[in-house]
Amino acid sequence: MISEKMKPFMANNSAIRAMFEEGKRMAAVYGRENVYDFSLGNPNVPVPQVTEAILDVVKNEDFMTLHGYMSNAGYEDVRQTIAESLNKRFGTNFSFKNLIMTVGAASGLNIILKSILNPGDEVIVFAPYFVEYNAYVRNYDGNVVVISPDTETFMPKLDEFEAKITAKTKAVIINNPNNPTGVVYDEATIKAMAAILEKKEKEFGTSIVLISDEPYRELAYGGVEVPFVTKYYHNAVVGYSYSKSLSVPGERIGYVVIPDEVDDSAALIGAATIANRVIGCVNAPSLVQKVIKYCIEHEVTVDLETYEKNRNLIYGALTEYGFTCAKPDGAFYLFVKSPVENEKEFCEVAKKHHVLVVPGSSFACPGYVRLAYCVSYEQIERSLPAFKKIAEEYGL
Ligand code: PLP
Repeated sequence: MISEKMKPFMANNSAIRAMFEEGKRMAAVYGRENVYDFSLGNPNVPVPQVTEAILDVVKNEDFMTLHGYMSNAGYEDVRQTIAESLNKRFGTNFSFKNLIMTVGAASGLNIILKSILNPGDEVIVFAPYFVEYNAYVRNYDGNVVVISPDTETFMPKLDEFEAKITAKTKAVIINNPNNPTGVVYDEATIKAMAAILEKKEKEFGTSIVLISDEPYRELAYGGVEVPFVTKYYHNAVVGYSYSKSLSVPGERIGYVVIPDEVDDSAALIGAATIANRVIGCVNAPSLVQKVIKYCIEHEVTVDLETYEKNRNLIYGALTEYGFTCAKPDGAFYLFVKSPVENEKEFCEVAKKHHVLVVPGSSFACPGYVRLAYCVSYEQIERSLPAFKKIAEEYGL
């Protein structure tokens, strides 16, 4: 019954989800407060104004407009509001025509890849990376080319990047701020990547699309700037999601930006709009599109301080106990070096102490584990004695 193309997806079904299920099982046995589940990047900071926005939209919008079909790219007024907000924040020059509303970042990436990939085309990613990228690229018969991690800084290895670009390279995916490391690629890094891409485009006579996957853009701490890639490279597109910035991952809402400077921009916008329909999304959910417009107009944001406090607590404590990890400037993850080579063994030891973390091999970076600190401050506090014991067990 199951297609050959589907089978590998089933075999690789996410270790993150499996750990999350394990967390639920353990909570039932030991009590929720005695299990320290750091496995899933499910935002934990409510944004009450989103509820107000939903009520306002439901009350004030015309029923048929709110619940009817629309352009596959989404409501024009919503896209224009987002475009103007981007222009104000980043000095860009977008109009609604440059934006397509999507069913979260996941479908944003899919509509871009669907629009540009021919079978055998290569898509470059930087380890560690969100492994769903493998599935998205395979959906359109592309091949993922992995750049090995710089485990000192977790910034992209630019020499290897340059060496691995070929005539078949169609796209490069970066994720800024990064899941799972929390690092932010700074302006100098983006400029250096852009220079390499421009050189290689000339060398091969190709167009290489830089796709910046940015669900964590708003989660950057201590005033760290996340560069807006379209300002640095002509073939850059941005995939954004409100899943994390408004704590609404279940609502499935985001957008892609395709600037006029992109080669064949109008055709790509047209293709991505049709892709929204033909991959089966049709359009992004209508009600929550209007909610996004309300949230932008009312400057609704998640309380960043809560995540920053969590980061400071967990990063400070774990490094004090002897664990090694890059200090995250954004997102809500910590990527910790496993005290033993096989990090899956470390995950099992942690589990004995009721601490659930995800192996780095789930992000193409074995030897590390990911902790998602989008949990209550109290959970982090309660978990610290367990981390201390684990550190002692490994003699850190
Ligand atoms: N990209 C990255 C790096 C993510 O971490 C996630 C979700 O965790 C996504 C994309 C998918 O986001 P969405 O829920 O908006 O589809």
